[in-house]
Amino acid sequence: MARNSIAKFGGTSVKTANAIRQIGHILTSNTTIRVVVVSAVGGVTNLLVELCKSPETTRAALLQKIQDIHFNLAEELILPVQDQIVQAVRRLNNIRDLSSPQMIDFALSQGEDLSSLIVQAYLVSQGLEVTHVDIRKFLITNDHFGKAVVDLTATKHQMTHFPTGLCITQGFIGSTSDGRTTTLGRGGSDYSAALLAECLNTDELLIYTDVPGVYTMDPRIVPSAHLIPELSFQEMAEMANFGAKILHPATLEPCIRGQIPVRILSTFEPDKPGTIVTVTERQNATPTISAITMRQGQLLVTIKSLKMLNAYGFLATIFSILARNKISVDLITTSEVSVALTIDITSVGSHAVNPFISNQALLDELMEFAEVVIEEDLTLLAIVGTSLTIPGIIQKTLGIIESYPIRLVCYGASNSSISVLVHKDKAVTMVQMLHQQLLGDAGV
Ligand code: ADP
Ligand code: ASP
Ligand code: MG
Repeated sequence: MARNSIAKFGGTSVKTANAIRQIGHILTSNTTIRVVVVSAVGGVTNLLVELCKSPETTRAALLQKIQDIHFNLAEELILPVQDQIVQAVRRLNNIRDLSSPQMIDFALSQGEDLSSLIVQAYLVSQGLEVTHVDIRKFLITNDHFGKAVVDLTATKHQMTHFPTGLCITQGFIGSTSDGRTTTLGRGGSDYSAALLAECLNTDELLIYTDVPGVYTMDPRIVPSAHLIPELSFQEMAEMANFGAKILHPATLEPCIRGQIPVRILSTFEPDKPGTIVTVTERQNATPTISAITMRQGQLLVTIKSLKMLNAYGFLATIFSILARNKISVDLITTSEVSVALTIDITSVGSHAVNPFISNQALLDELMEFAEVVIEEDLTLLAIVGTSLTIPGIIQKTLGIIESYPIRLVCYGASNSSISVLVHKDKAVTMVQMLHQQLLGDAGV
């Protein structure tokens, strides 16, 4: 049993009065929890992103919606926080330039500010002594707004001053060393909680969400998916990287550094054992498919240049341009004169911008020496497991989906994944067929 733990509650775990009451039950029955990290109320970050993109004319209605969501929770839980909610909405209304990345981060941070305020007020109303900590004073990042990079040295230093006793704080946000609010990228509250777990030397990280653990595939898409009771850090990292939304991909880095096991649990059925993610390596020589993942919102960028026939430096040039623009590439396939690469729009940052549409200078730079074709509406499917390069696995995988068009396949760079890029309209059917035939009823 852990001596102390950090518990993170996601958007759906703070979305209704009932969910917030569950947090109260969990804290009273698990006294190892030292810090509670909360996401914004489910749906609020999306509304805030919409607010930043919307014309002046629709802003008032969005602000009203955001205010109502929080007012309703406060009313149902009988909490005297109306004034603070009105103040947050006023702060949003007063933002002058909602197109500036710095201001977008500030706007998005109001979601976590409000949810942590409401949950703290509820816990206090239940007789728990809980201090609200503004994470901006502790989680220090650079100024890459939308996807800020954590300054671990500064953060560790600040965390030495973290208050003792039960605390509640915001996930997803941080601050530059000179006090400007930043965000860590969508879904980043898991990462915030992991950083806290590392910096505060915690024994265990508890991720409370709306499903009772990690499944062989998103159970909303494949209802027959099986729960995976135990996963290694590597397996979980692979699943998260390939799009299992259950955990933000960066979450495992601090946990691996601090050797902190992660338990994924349901806020609504907290007594279920969930999934434990630990250091234990699975020594498996036989091929094992552990899960299938699906990641929407993929861009396929094909860069083609006949000038590059027999020339060197083509890939280096492309990657240096992308790196300068802070764009990370997921999959890549090449031929002599062309390269096709996938980019996940959500991985670019919290602001949901397509880097190739919003950044003409980047396109111009690539088009100086190459033809660039961008395809949207694609989804990445991945088979995750061990020893997947053993003969037969790729053939079987592709055989199952042979009647569907595939835009790109990545196989061979690692023996723990096979990924295929497909059209978004066909993705759900394909993933269901793959799950049925590869993971079926027999389980993992
Ligand atoms: P939270 O708001 O708690 O962070 P998320 O929506 O980010 O919740 O993540 C939980 C969701 O992840 C689940 O509701 C489920 O639909 C989805 N999900 C995707 N892949 C998996 C998987 N392999 N196992 C369980 N859930 C998954
Ligand atoms: N509220 C943020 C989001 O919706 C962070 C998170 O949920 O982890 O992306
Ligand atoms: Mg999440």
